[in-house]
Amino acid sequence: MSEDRQDPTRPQKLLTGDDYIESLRGRNLKVFLFGELVAEPVDHPLIRPSINAMAKTYDLAAAQPELGTVMSPFTGERVNRFLHIAMSAEDVVRQNKMQRRLGQLTGTCFQRCVGMDALNALYSVTYEIDEKYATPYHARLIAFIREMQQHNYVIGGAMTDVKGDRSKPPSQQADPDLYLHISRRTPEGVYIRGAKAHQTGCINSHWLIVMPTLRLEPDDHDYAIVGALPVEAEGITYVYGRQSCDTRSLEGGEIDVGNQHYSGQEALVIFEDVFIPNEMIFMDGEADFAAMLVERFTSYHRRSYVCKSGVGDVLIGAAATMAEFNGVGQASHIRDKLVEMTHLNETIYATGIASSYQSHATKSGAYICDDMLANVCKHHVTKIPYEMGRLAQDLAGGLVVTLPSEADYRHEELGPLLDKYLKGRDDVPTEHRMRILRLIENMTLGRNSVGYLTESLHGAGSPQAQRIQIYRQMQITFKQGLARQLAGIDLPDSLTDDIGEILGGYFARVFGSFEND
Ligand SMILES: Cc1cc2nc3c(=O)[nH]c(=O)nc-3n(C[C@H](O)[C@H](O)[C@H](O)COP(=O)(O)OP(=O)(O)OC[C@H]3O[C@@H](n4cnc5c(N)ncnc54)[C@H](O)[C@@H]3O)c2cc1C
Ligand code: SF4
Repeated sequence: MSEDRQDPTRPQKLLTGDDYIESLRGRNLKVFLFGELVAEPVDHPLIRPSINAMAKTYDLAAAQPELGTVMSPFTGERVNRFLHIAMSAEDVVRQNKMQRRLGQLTGTCFQRCVGMDALNALYSVTYEIDEKYATPYHARLIAFIREMQQHNYVIGGAMTDVKGDRSKPPSQQADPDLYLHISRRTPEGVYIRGAKAHQTGCINSHWLIVMPTLRLEPDDHDYAIVGALPVEAEGITYVYGRQSCDTRSLEGGEIDVGNQHYSGQEALVIFEDVFIPNEMIFMDGEADFAAMLVERFTSYHRRSYVCKSGVGDVLIGAAATMAEFNGVGQASHIRDKLVEMTHLNETIYATGIASSYQSHATKSGAYICDDMLANVCKHHVTKIPYEMGRLAQDLAGGLVVTLPSEADYRHEELGPLLDKYLKGRDDVPTEHRMRILRLIENMTLGRNSVGYLTESLHGAGSPQAQRIQIYRQMQITFKQGLARQLAGIDLPDSLTDDIGEILGGYFARVFGSFEND
């Protein structure tokens, strides 16, 4: 398998962030940025901060193994938690704690969770496909996971298709390539064609897992494809996504970038008849399981957005520091706004971690988080970072958007003037004030607002997708029964049993009668 593609001079298992960064070199990826092919993404100043953020997932594992690693049942060794299948509620909870910590350390999207959530969703879904159709997917997936763990590779999760006319299913689009599909079959495997949009960390990954993005009908048979392929597979083109203020990374300074070392990454990935061998195919034509896969993946991923509470910790710290530098740190309304930011931030964490604690076992034995609470978490995430950004900008003052450039500050004649007139508290260097202002700008308007704001809105599904899931699980007739009972209104027969004994769904999970659903 991938050993053939491995450079023999590279370590077999990537242990540190530096090992990881070196492993990305020399892959001859076809990456376009600003209309040009990128010779080596690792050395590109606009791309490198996103690689540094991913590298942090390796460094955290080395520094805090109890948080970043876990014993694998497949290799018998400790492996990176991002490659682990959660076999208990505690495993699911620790994913969230690791995500919050990495958000704190990078202040951005560290990109590795999509693959983690895809592996975990696929683990239970392949088990259930095999159970129904006697297919070989689950064993193949385990072999793939074992290989990923042995090398400590990064996996990107490619679900979102470009989708064309959103009102039409894949098979009724004017152009069949608007959803990724099988274009050709051979005895050895399949060729796929189409494009995946907004792919987080794809160029920084070693492998991609492609998955359908929505519920499929029998006519969509050729769109029901799940498979793993190396990022450097022949026929893939990556078009780098622009981020607000991204070219500041090309200017060479340290201040104006805001967060010099870390950023997220997204790209459009175009597949032009890319081959997937049979042993890397985990769904092929089982359209009836596409909805289950999408729902389980988004369930894991929506509570993964606890990452934003870690990023929020940085923003709260930046806002508080700015208030201090301005000499107003003790003002009561400032303290109150910091309390409000903290309250909002912990609301994200609380709902995400609750979803993880309320995990239950699937038929495969893998644990999955509570879907209702995962959707509540993600729905908060579609709003809270925007309000926190507003509060941070309030505390920062207008200079957050009118600050002169670093080049002006370094200018021989201008520098001393700016140093004098941009000063806040007398004992705080002007440069420190500028650095914090740029960090707040970076997180709320610049490069990392992609991860903190708009990804919070659309990533893992736009707000309406969560409302649909909440609607499906809100057990409204049961709640009506509770109200009717207390109000002294007769219960219809259909509700009598439900009220006496909670039969299933969300409340079964709340009150502990776990079942495989
Ligand atoms: C920064 C970022 C990172 C991401 N990372 C990944 C990743 O790593 N992997 C991945 O697979 N995906 C990723 N996504 C994709 C994400 O899941 C999608 O953005 C999301 O599902 C919304 O899809 P869309 O962007 O095509 O928006 P659209 O589907 O165009 O939605 C736009 C609006 O139209 C509405 N709408 C859409 N379809 C319908 C319909 N049929 N009927 C009525 N209303 C409709 C939506 O509710 C929304 O309000 C990422 C997105 C972002 C922004
Ligand atoms: S947005 Fe958060 S959950 Fe998604 S990949 Fe980035 S850090 Fe992970």
